[in-house]
Amino acid sequence: MKFPIFKTKKRGAKFHLTDPKERKAYFELKAGPEIKKLKEFLKRHTFIAYLLGKKNSGKGTYSKMFAEVIDPAKISHFSIGDMIREVDEDLKIAERKKELINFLEKQYRGFLNLNQAIPALEKRNTETLLPNELILALIKREIAKRKKKALFIDGFPRNLDQISYSLFFRDLIGYREDPDIFILIDVPEAVIDERIKWRRICPLCQTSRNLKLLPTSKVSYGQKKKEFYLICDNPDCQEARMISKEGDELGIEPIRKRLEMDEKLMEKTFSLYGIPKVLLRNSLPIKEAPKYVDDYEITPEYSYQWSDKTKSVKIIEKPWQILDDRGIPSYSLLPPPVVVSLIKQIVEVLSL
Ligand SMILES: [Zn+2]
Repeated sequence: MKFPIFKTKKRGAKFHLTDPKERKAYFELKAGPEIKKLKEFLKRHTFIAYLLGKKNSGKGTYSKMFAEVIDPAKISHFSIGDMIREVDEDLKIAERKKELINFLEKQYRGFLNLNQAIPALEKRNTETLLPNELILALIKREIAKRKKKALFIDGFPRNLDQISYSLFFRDLIGYREDPDIFILIDVPEAVIDERIKWRRICPLCQTSRNLKLLPTSKVSYGQKKKEFYLICDNPDCQEARMISKEGDELGIEPIRKRLEMDEKLMEKTFSLYGIPKVLLRNSLPIKEAPKYVDDYEITPEYSYQWSDKTKSVKIIEKPWQILDDRGIPSYSLLPPPVVVSLIKQIVEVLSL
């Protein structure tokens, strides 16, 4: 699989891409006409986009930012993982369970009878996969709940069998007239690894940030352990120290099997004919960067120094360098330039 490098470099102002106002101006400069075309298109049409990328590759981030820029009311991000968690909740409440069973009695077709399928749902642990036919019926139910919107689907297809289902999926959910698109996201494993290793979570509001890549506005220093801490920005949390989750220090090791499966899934989809594909790259070789991107589009890394004299933390920022999966020294892009390439490629796929 070879993903082309997308050029987003353009003369103009510099932007702080973490600031929502500046981000808006940034998108206007880099993709103004395309944003207008997409807004116009979505007034009367929809599309279905399947997000394919490794776990933690930023599927949710990119599609939610796309919606934020184009039109949140017309675009829905839809994750199979969230859907199944909600079904688990439905099963615990008698009334909701009855509604679910009613729906499945009408819509489910498959090799298990419903008397087997429901217990399969209830007794399953996170390791057992649900039968494909049951997943399809549940997705259909979920989509029926939403008004007809453009959909970003995250987590389907999940295995090689489901790829064949996805080819006919829009017919199944009554989106026959709407274009469908596969969005493939290429992220080096080194990026995923550090996203997990440096992840910090607020114990009170569960907000997730990253000590190395996405700090909060305040950082404190613990003299005893000689450790730096992110302080939650949420005023309700009253300066709570963010903490790391057990197991995160292992990075991608515990999910290696899953990442290999995701890779296979992407390769298989890459070779599909007849469905348009959008190819997103998270990284680019350092030596190509000056030609293709502006400096402020590159993900910085943060490190910290404690000064005993001033009793304060000094924050040091520099471009983050990683080795991509081929061992090439690379930069990782911030989400906005990746979303610019997403916007432009979707406009092209839809021939707008
Ligand atoms: Zn918090």
